[in-house]
Amino acid sequence: MTSANPQPAQPKPPDGSGAPVYWECETCGFLSRDPAFQDATHACSTCRSTTGTRRTFPPDRLRRVDERIRHYDEDGESEVVVILVATFLESLLEDMLARIMAAEGGSVKLRAAVLDTLRSVGQRLGKLFPTLTGVQFEDAAAQAGLPEFPRRWRALRSERNAFIHDAAFEGPREELSEASAKEAIALLDQGYKLFVGINNRFVAGAPHRRKDDSRP
Ligand SMILES: [Zn+2]
Repeated sequence: MTSANPQPAQPKPPDGSGAPVYWECETCGFLSRDPAFQDATHACSTCRSTTGTRRTFPPDRLRRVDERIRHYDEDGESEVVVILVATFLESLLEDMLARIMAAEGGSVKLRAAVLDTLRSVGQRLGKLFPTLTGVQFEDAAAQAGLPEFPRRWRALRSERNAFIHDAAFEGPREELSEASAKEAIALLDQGYKLFVGINNRFVAGAPHRRKDDSRP
């Protein structure tokens, strides 16, 4: 017996332990976790494109970091997990902001200049994000069904900073617990959901389609 319509294989075994893979419509930037979407003849749900190619998201460099984070988590390396997840989410945010700027017609030079000028996460979330989207980051998170994400992400950054840096008033934090690592992994998984949702709303749904590769 042969299958008339075989499903394309997932790049990672679906054991729940690997970094998630999304496929991107190169025409509009829409992201989908549906394995059928990697076949470009499967119509994009946003722009209806059935031509061109589909590429994976996040970029390979970020997926490699994600895979390492999950290995460190299995090995009980809580401190490394918290530090790397905090960094990873900041990379995902930068990637998303660059994609939104590209969708709005921003050139590679402009995107690089803006991101270089606004380097802190606070500025990027508090100023750049609402300027680009017309929505506060907290509201976008709530609308994506993750109202607690901004607060929990802020707490994770604070923990990371207190561990890495010598906090001026409180002194350094000497260790990061297994509970902190567990929270970090939860935020890592939620981060994908949130940033992909933001992408599909503000990149794939943007009035001006990207004309070139939006990746920084
Ligand atoms: Zn599309």
